[in-house]
Amino acid sequence: MDKSPTLAIVVPCYREEEVLPSTHERLCTLLNAMVKSDVVSERSCLVFVDDGSTDDTWSLLEKYANESPAVCALKLSGNFGHQNAIIAGMENFLDEADIFVTIDADLQDDINAIPKMVEKYKDGFEIVYGVRSKRKTDSWFKRNSALAFYKLMHHLGTKSVYNHADFRLMDRRVVAEFLRYPERNMFMRGIVPLMGFKSATVEYERSERKAGTSKYPLQKMLSFAVDGITSFSIRPVRFVLTMGITFVFIAILILGWVLYAKFSGRAVSGWSSMILSLWFIGGCVLIGLGIVGEYIGKIYMEVKGRPRYHVDQKIGR
Ligand code: UDP
Ligand code: MG
Repeated sequence: MDKSPTLAIVVPCYREEEVLPSTHERLCTLLNAMVKSDVVSERSCLVFVDDGSTDDTWSLLEKYANESPAVCALKLSGNFGHQNAIIAGMENFLDEADIFVTIDADLQDDINAIPKMVEKYKDGFEIVYGVRSKRKTDSWFKRNSALAFYKLMHHLGTKSVYNHADFRLMDRRVVAEFLRYPERNMFMRGIVPLMGFKSATVEYERSERKAGTSKYPLQKMLSFAVDGITSFSIRPVRFVLTMGITFVFIAILILGWVLYAKFSGRAVSGWSSMILSLWFIGGCVLIGLGIVGEYIGKIYMEVKGRPRYHVDQKIGR
């Protein structure tokens, strides 16, 4: 590759006024250094996406974007979620760059991995995943719940890159192809590995959040996990079917036993077994219904084909 590529670093921000000043400064320093050493072209930029923050995030972004032509800001008209904020950033600045790196605003992911990602890109890789080598800075709970989730995903047949979140590099062609996936229930880290293309990984150590609080409380984390599974796998539905068939077989066996007991005159008032099976089967039916409902809900959301986000303002380029 003779010409250095133009890089856009896409940063989704939701109520990040506390970390933004340092994030902005560190990313600008990094970008300047990369431009100076001719790793990336001087048209490279930062794209901050404000995902409907209610604090001062947007006024900060406005200020940064007006100060420097290398900073672009996109304001969504409401809170559309992390994944949609990333998509909005890439989609709206698709023509501005050759390669896109997405990174969270709290910079828990090591920004020094970005030059390494660009290097891999120059070696001919079109997707470069940032992979955490250790998770010692995450809480015990976050670490283990994440591990359990990866394992479950793998078991259910979704390809995903272990210990990789949404810190990755994609070249423009890959981003354009990715944008052809129209789903509302987006789970990027499941889709991107599915797309093929030449990919590589870069390892880094994840640090702590510098300021502000996690925007992924337990409830959001759980619903993200459920989305991740049900957007990719129909195995849970199959499982319900298998369970149903097994139950019918068990019921036939029990029928045999019941008939035997009746005709040998040993039938007793079987209140315990009755009430037990009643609850057990009732529970199973409800679980089954819940799982089916989850998919129907998904179909309902997708079928409406609503836009994933709305842009309110765009500054830069
Ligand atoms: N984020 C967003 N919209 C949301 C929630 C989060 O754009 O509705 C952004 C947030 O600003 C951050 C990134 O998504 O840049 C990841 O969030 P966070 O760091 O809070 O999650 P964690 O690292 O704790 O999983
Ligand atoms: Mg974070």
